[in-house]
Amino acid sequence: MKISSKFDSGRIEIVKAKDPSDIQLKIDHDSHSEFRQWFHFRLQGAMNQACRIRLINAGESSYPKWEGYNIVASYDRETWFRVPTEFDGKQLLVKHTPEFNDVYYAYFAPYSFERHLNLIAYAQQSPICKVKDLGQTLDGHDLNLLVIGKPTVTKKKVWIIARQHPGETMAEWFIDGMLERLLDPDDAIAKQLLTQAVFYVVPNMNIDGSIRGNLRTNASGANLNREWLNPTMEKSPEVFLVREKMHQTGVDLFLDVHGDEQLPYNFLSGAEGVPSFSDKQKQLCEQFKAAFIRANPDMQGQYGYPTDRPNAGDLSMATNYVAEIFKAGVAYTIEMPFKDNASAPDETFGWSPERSQRLGASVLNPIAEVLPVLR
Ligand SMILES: [Zn+2]
Repeated sequence: MKISSKFDSGRIEIVKAKDPSDIQLKIDHDSHSEFRQWFHFRLQGAMNQACRIRLINAGESSYPKWEGYNIVASYDRETWFRVPTEFDGKQLLVKHTPEFNDVYYAYFAPYSFERHLNLIAYAQQSPICKVKDLGQTLDGHDLNLLVIGKPTVTKKKVWIIARQHPGETMAEWFIDGMLERLLDPDDAIAKQLLTQAVFYVVPNMNIDGSIRGNLRTNASGANLNREWLNPTMEKSPEVFLVREKMHQTGVDLFLDVHGDEQLPYNFLSGAEGVPSFSDKQKQLCEQFKAAFIRANPDMQGQYGYPTDRPNAGDLSMATNYVAEIFKAGVAYTIEMPFKDNASAPDETFGWSPERSQRLGASVLNPIAEVLPVLR
């Protein structure tokens, strides 16, 4: 038998991999950073054997609350199913008998670089979408922006970015589902939205980290969602380039799409802590949230992060920065679970690419609801 991770977003540290009944692995840290959570590896040669795979340092990971988490596995690299996983406070234990010689395991269903390029190529074929090249990442990858709809002075500017934290692959699945609907000429809401707004979409903010198999950081070890006050081309070109473009266009509505390691729910996190947070922003955000919950019951408003106290918001985070600097009427971080939606669990797939795509498609409804009253 053999374990390997030398592929797009592959990452694991092998401790013992000779005996299928005693496979010991370690979750590796991000390149140039101590964050430690993402894993993605391949197991060959254990078909029909009862494997016991232990991630022996799971208790020392960045977000060690693994209760309720089940690993994902795939034979065809398209369908990722959950495998029951136990956590004893220190180690994750996966007992699995693979049905094929070759099986992949990951923290969450990957969204590969090739799939990312396919998404960009698909989008450019829409007559209403233009692909812009913002520049290069530190590893030399293209940083692309999709501009959807014809920009005019009067149209509202909707900015949606995803995967600042590269291991949060559900964020790009979300964008994938959203784009499919937004570019659909038969979708009445999408068509109506584009008469009022231009969409600026960055499907993957952190391509280097995605390919490297990082959870949270880029090629230089920077956590992009702490770089918004002082990004540099040397350390965080992704934020530098996107922020520069935002300053050219302005921002009326902003969404930053993420995944949450701990909470088994979808939720929104706002910019209540920024100095200029206004009653108008508060009311628009609440209207947006309520419309989102109505549009898709996988979204909810009961569980989430504690709200920032006034003036306690960290302006190096994208949502806070955009709310404060651009006075965006709505600015939200969207969080999806690595685990499942505990209110509507799915034993086979947990929270999945498909549900992330549907949540992404349904985000057009709350945008449509607030757009006419944004400014
Ligand atoms: Zn995140």
